[in-house]
Amino acid sequence: MIKAKGIAAYSAKSELAPYSFERRDPKEHDVVIDIKYCGICHSDIHQARSEWFEGIYPMVPGHEIAGIVRSIGSKVIKYKVGDKVGVGCFVDTCRTCSSCKAEMDNYCLEGMVQTYNGVERDRKTVTQGGYSDVIVVDENYVLRIPETISLDKAAPLLCAGVTLYSPLVHWKAGVGKKVAILGMGGLGHMGVKIAVALGAEVTVLSHSDKKREDALKMGAHNFVVTQDQQNLQKYASYFDLIINTVSSAEIDMAQFFNLLKLDATLVSVGAPDKPLSINPFPLIMMRRNYAGSVIGSIKETQEMLDFCAKHNIAPEIEVINPYYVNKAYERVLKSDVRYRFVIDMSKI
Ligand code: NAP
Ligand code: ZN
Ligand code: ZN
Repeated sequence: MIKAKGIAAYSAKSELAPYSFERRDPKEHDVVIDIKYCGICHSDIHQARSEWFEGIYPMVPGHEIAGIVRSIGSKVIKYKVGDKVGVGCFVDTCRTCSSCKAEMDNYCLEGMVQTYNGVERDRKTVTQGGYSDVIVVDENYVLRIPETISLDKAAPLLCAGVTLYSPLVHWKAGVGKKVAILGMGGLGHMGVKIAVALGAEVTVLSHSDKKREDALKMGAHNFVVTQDQQNLQKYASYFDLIINTVSSAEIDMAQFFNLLKLDATLVSVGAPDKPLSINPFPLIMMRRNYAGSVIGSIKETQEMLDFCAKHNIAPEIEVINPYYVNKAYERVLKSDVRYRFVIDMSKI
């Protein structure tokens, strides 16, 4: 077994604290990765606090993992020692269902094996995530980080980046399309950068005026403060696509449905702890669509990394020490991060 050091939640109510544990010895197709950086996703907070479902404790969160290959199993062909690699939100799938065969493994019909707070396909080994110094992952679920992207900036791409890239590409954001990003946090700010690079006209819908200057610097064409109804009225029936990244259920969806054109789509990627309340009338009246999307496939994640390298896109990050994580969680909850915390795992 491989010794690992990490930071874990010991219960839904306790703060995260140091934790020593073991990783499996590499199997034939496994890659052993020295974790250098791990991003803090809002999903880490939802899960560490059992806001979605009862978590498995001790829980080492983290699914925005960037590091260097330490060693490889005897049959690994994709990676070699020293390669820059990443791991995102899942580390295995069934590989045989229609979704897996169609390279949409994020929609595996048997469910993805989550990078942490999940159980391996042996149905007993609990997975542990990236707030740690080492991880062992099957090569088919490991991503190649392009040379031009530094490891600290690569980390948030593994979840935040692909979670926005996938729906933007699927719903054809591009030249001539009017796209809105609702909520400009870790996910949202990547959405702005990617949608701009795809050539869309991009509008940020934000609950305060604080991020206006940043959004415009990132290339957004418009910035709208959603608290004022009058601001929203100017954009009635305006957008081809809205991506909702808001982490809270306390938003009035109907007012955002009203901003969609006939037949246009609002995609929720934000995953609040409580159900959203939906008034269907604005959907009914303009044949609008309401959809969801979960992260992206392994294939799309690699495509997104290469796209970001080509277009020189990287997240805005604040690099922190592992022992700052509890403070960081509080700041994420207050929307007080520009725009992703990334833990320097060499400091563990
Ligand atoms: P984040 O950095 O905390 O950003 C969330 C943003 O939502 C905030 O920056 C804020 O943007 C807005 N917001 C927060 N509270 C609000 C409130 N009460 N009213 C209105 N707006 C509010 O979180 P994140 O890491 O980007 O994650 C966002 C959500 O996506 C989380 O629920 C997370 O679990 C989920 N997620 C889903 C997937 C998926 O595959 N579908 C993947 C990753 C994460 P403004 O300040 O601009 O208003
Ligand atoms: Zn995430
Ligand atoms: Zn499958």
